[in-house]
Amino acid sequence: MPDPTPDPPLPAVALNQIPVADLQRVDPRVEERLARLGLHSVQDLLFHLPVRYQDRGLVVPIADLCPGAEVQIEGEVGKTQISYGRRRSLKVWLTDGAGAETGELPIACGVLLRFFHFSSQQVAALRPGVRLSCYGEVRQGPNSLELVHPEYRLRGADEEPQPEPRLTPIYPSTEGLAQSSWRGLTDQALRLLAQCPPGEYLPAAVLAGFALPDLGAALNYVHRPPSAATLADLTERRHPAFLRLAFEELVAHQVSLRRLRLAHLRTPAPVLAGDGGLRRRLREVLPFALTPDQEQAVAEIAADLARALPMQRLLQGDVGSGKTVVAALAALQAIESGRQAALMVPTELLSEQHYKGLATWLQPLGVAPVWLTGRHKGRERTAILAAIATGRAPLVIGTHALIQEEVRFADLGLAITDEQHRFGVHQRMRLCEKGAQEGGAPHQLIMTATPIPRSLAMTLYADLDLSVITKAPPGRPPIVTVALPDGRREAVIWRVHNACAAGHQAYWVCTLIEESEALQAQAAQETARQLGDCLPGVRVGLVHGRQRPPEREAVMAAFAAADLDLLVATTVIEVGVDVPNASLMIIENPERLGLSQLHQLRGRVGRGALESYCVLLYHAPLTAQARDRLALIRSTLDGFRIAEEDLKMRGAGEVLGTRQTGTLEFRVADPLRDQHLTGAAQRAADLILACHPDLVEPLIQRWLGRREAFGVV
Ligand code: ADP
Ligand code: MG
Repeated sequence: MPDPTPDPPLPAVALNQIPVADLQRVDPRVEERLARLGLHSVQDLLFHLPVRYQDRGLVVPIADLCPGAEVQIEGEVGKTQISYGRRRSLKVWLTDGAGAETGELPIACGVLLRFFHFSSQQVAALRPGVRLSCYGEVRQGPNSLELVHPEYRLRGADEEPQPEPRLTPIYPSTEGLAQSSWRGLTDQALRLLAQCPPGEYLPAAVLAGFALPDLGAALNYVHRPPSAATLADLTERRHPAFLRLAFEELVAHQVSLRRLRLAHLRTPAPVLAGDGGLRRRLREVLPFALTPDQEQAVAEIAADLARALPMQRLLQGDVGSGKTVVAALAALQAIESGRQAALMVPTELLSEQHYKGLATWLQPLGVAPVWLTGRHKGRERTAILAAIATGRAPLVIGTHALIQEEVRFADLGLAITDEQHRFGVHQRMRLCEKGAQEGGAPHQLIMTATPIPRSLAMTLYADLDLSVITKAPPGRPPIVTVALPDGRREAVIWRVHNACAAGHQAYWVCTLIEESEALQAQAAQETARQLGDCLPGVRVGLVHGRQRPPEREAVMAAFAAADLDLLVATTVIEVGVDVPNASLMIIENPERLGLSQLHQLRGRVGRGALESYCVLLYHAPLTAQARDRLALIRSTLDGFRIAEEDLKMRGAGEVLGTRQTGTLEFRVADPLRDQHLTGAAQRAADLILACHPDLVEPLIQRWLGRREAFGVV
């Protein structure tokens, strides 16, 4: 018989395998609340970092308290009382003034501590004369200032002020989870961390360059800062502990994305060198010369296409910067090489505009594009599908319809996606699969109008090569942007009247704070009706998110054909149409929108030769921040500048709309704040992929878990 083992050795479980429900005081309700924040395992809890820290070293004199402040106070219990009003409560008067000595409590320099839940032990402990340290939020009670359910600690009579724990973490929370629960949960998680120390997944060579603490020490530091830590180190996240966490996370992301990229590069792709004939002829018929930025993008793409490895390139350029012609030249290079090209766009109307525009350019060269959307039905659809399948269609332009099952390409060599943020990763992959043959893959060009700083792009799109068009084509009349309070609405309506009377067209964009599309639609309907009443003779159309796409697109098409003068819209018009005759845009309540979104909306005007105006009709009074934001929009047309500001204010997830498309989100790192780490993270990732293949999987698992499947491509 073996001896009974006294203590079973700790199972070597990873902390991401221990569900939060295994912790003490996590009942199903708490579990559900944690799940709301995306926290399922003990590891998730450890990566859930405090948003800020409270400095409890500072003791505020009771006479200085004011409502709303969170404070640390010290004093002596004067009197206690249990009152049986509507709710039973324990009231404890605390004072740090002279009043305590006489037993008389001048309310003015005392404060009331109020407890609704309390035990008899508490009542016994909080007897007059006892000294307390308390922490809580000050409120104005009926007769005096109060602290409701403060955290408190009894103090010995001559105990010196305690230096520890001074900086208390405050966690991002959700309804029903108090800060004290968070501290209890993270205490337990940190104890488990001490029992199962996490593996070191960064190679020694990488760590040596940095002098960063190990992961366990870093987590302990940020959750329970030692007394020597300063508030500034913590708030600005400058301490090496934060850098360690952010850096390791950035490395994990880079490893994941670059591994995806290496996998792509192992697949052969058709060499699309082309003889340059069609491209030369397109340049002859174009009414303009390419800008240097466009030329450079074209050259980068041309070099990629001529290699036997699949291109994975992101073309970034502000609205109106001229990405389409770059895409057209890429498509021609594929066609010159005897392959097909496809261009997928997010809306039917946009696909129609691309189709018509490209047909105008390409038909003179003997290249006839075909157009496929959900609208094409019956015999027409059969004929289009046949042209695609036999290879008679050299260039196919369409919507999501392109990735349907029945669509088969004869020989797709290049897949182009426009307005990439409107597509999910999987949709882009499906388009590529249409071209995968005998283990080969088509080349891929992805276009986006959201300009982001280069180092941020390197973090978010580490699996892609990047081409950027920074400067818009010359000769565009600038868009003049003005901001007016909504008290000037009448004058603005008059301005719309004048523009339409002069034969121009205008947009009126309604924004509502409500999340609900139904309410937004209602508001837009109401605005359209009012404007119709005020502007007899002006043909008013309406588009909103509650219309079915065919209905909405019919209205957009009527506007594009100048059968409507004024288009009232919710923000659904953000992506897409090119109506050069539209020279005026009114945006109601612009203060409610992000800067990038405003900039994209504004990009709908100023597309022709007309001097264009954008009126920001704001609701007064503006907050100081809103005023700054509108001032920035007014002062610049530089999409990069605007995106950078927007990223600072709202974070990458919001600005890039990654939430919808399932791109990665970060737990600790902030790709913008931690930009300075990007280069090092990329080098570390390459080193790991090349020399430490055993670290790849654990690192990705630790930081990305199941989310790894979401690369950008
Ligand atoms: P976006 O980058 O938003 O897709 P487009 O490709 O639609 O921009 O281009 C916007 C407009 O600019 C189009 O009318 C296009 O023909 C025109 N354009 C593109 N390149 C140039 C250029 N180099 N010079 C003048 N106009 C150009
Ligand atoms: Mg475009």
